Amino acid sequence: MEIYIDGQFYPKEEAKVSVFDHGLLYGDGIFEGTRAYNGRIFEFDAHIDRLYASAKAIALEIPMSKEEMKRAHIETLRKNQLSDAYIRTIVTRGVGDLGLDPRKCSRPTVIIIADRISLYPEEFYEKGLKIITVPTRRNLPESVNPMIKSLNYLNNILAKIEANLSGAAEAIMLNQEGYVAECTGDNIFIIKGQTLATPLVTFGALKGITRGRVMKLAAELGLEVVETALTRYDIYVADECFLTGTAAEVIPVVEVDGRQIGDGKPGPYSRQLKEAYHRYAMANGTPIY
Ligand code: PMP
Repeated sequence: MEIYIDGQFYPKEEAKVSVFDHGLLYGDGIFEGTRAYNGRIFEFDAHIDRLYASAKAIALEIPMSKEEMKRAHIETLRKNQLSDAYIRTIVTRGVGDLGLDPRKCSRPTVIIIADRISLYPEEFYEKGLKIITVPTRRNLPESVNPMIKSLNYLNNILAKIEANLSGAAEAIMLNQEGYVAECTGDNIFIIKGQTLATPLVTFGALKGITRGRVMKLAAELGLEVVETALTRYDIYVADECFLTGTAAEVIPVVEVDGRQIGDGKPGPYSRQLKEAYHRYAMANGTPIY
């Protein structure tokens, strides 16, 4: 495996960053997770745009243009001869001293890792997930805005630990007001009748790129699509529930906090959207070769 760091490629064992990098010392940086399907990078511009938006939000200037960044991604996939891949892009504040002042970091570190995708077991998609609401609340937008895909994921990791300790597959995180925000690495949706609903991102969610695509596909299926305030009650009484994310795609949820969702099996719209999304992902994207 060849890993891109600041314009050079290194074999996996030699791909290293300084212990003085503020990405390590303080989680000061941002990242993206993108996929390639069938020799094409899916939603490439959307991921690159979100990377640069995250950087802007933390006042981090990425030392290359979007076009250069896109070329570096394509080069990384070619070097690794990958057609189907998960791509992790990381931009840290760079090497500084032990103090947290970012002015001490002269140049951001840019890392691109392209690996084979490790998918969730098929059983998860067939049977659906059992998930719980956890005590850890999503970050306040006024502190670290959940719209920023920052390297500081401790908020989500604490929620994930709580889910793990309860033997649940994922954790629903609420915002400070108690409204549903998202899961630790995925957005959440419900279906009630002919309506697909998901929390407004201002309620404390990442603006998921899969989320956006699924909303478009759902509208094409004839569903009414709404971004709104959701409570746990809305989820408990929904007909269907599913999560979305670049890695997971569309994954059904069949139980939340011990309440069975619908008839306890992945619902028909969830299945249709899962298939429609996968079909769309396989057929669209920016060619690598
Ligand atoms: N929420 C969080 C907290 C995430 O980390 C992710 C995955 N990156 C998502 C939602 C889903 O976003 P996307 O569909 O863009 O992968």
